[in-house]
Amino acid sequence: MLAERLNEVNAAIAAAASKAGRDPAAVKLVAVTKTVGLDQIRQAIALGLHDFGENRLQEARAKVDAFPDQSWHFIGHLQTNKVKEVLPRFALIHSLDSFRLAEALQHWGERLDRYVNVLVQVNVAREKGKYGLDPGELPDFLTALRAMTRIKVRGLMAMAPWVEDPEEARPVFRGLRLLQQQCSVPDMQLEHLSMGMTNDYRVAVEEGATIVRVGTALFGPRG
Ligand SMILES: *Cc1c(COP(=O)(O)O)cnc(C)c1O
Repeated sequence: MLAERLNEVNAAIAAAASKAGRDPAAVKLVAVTKTVGLDQIRQAIALGLHDFGENRLQEARAKVDAFPDQSWHFIGHLQTNKVKEVLPRFALIHSLDSFRLAEALQHWGERLDRYVNVLVQVNVAREKGKYGLDPGELPDFLTALRAMTRIKVRGLMAMAPWVEDPEEARPVFRGLRLLQQQCSVPDMQLEHLSMGMTNDYRVAVEEGATIVRVGTALFGPRG
């Protein structure tokens, strides 16, 4: 049942936060609703969840439009030709991963007269074929974003490689936090670290996650 699962996830976040001497209230739970239907989202809202994550515009459209008052997070790779439709629907884009995408966000931010909240996705583990900036490219990339007046960089996002033992993901999360500390760009606060999914969110919270993106632990396996 969703209510019980949500209690378990909240308890695990609280335990991980207190283990690390952190305030559990400083961790935002984003419920990842890919493949999840409107009924379950309605239930989740009734249980007090207000932040939802989707990774594809195609699937997200009907859900966002059904629950426009919730806070929607775009967590998947974003193609530039989808930006125009994503901007009005999503409060935070977790997956800024290229200069080309930044240019499209800036362009549509101007056209639609909106500011665009983003996290920069970093491929901390330098996995082949995965999205995200190489950690070495991050400082120059952030500096270049300063000129893009419509883009508000709120922090960093990473995905750990899938591993059986979540402890093995710890260096990735720690690496993202180090990048946050090392990259100081004027007028830019990298306040958020979006890291941790069902398998590894406890470790991510111990390492400083301010946003965890959890699907399976809340809604069950995706079939
Ligand atoms: C699907 C997805 C999640 C949630 O994954 P679970 O293992 O079901 O918690 C988190 N982040 C991203 C980017 C995803 O695509």
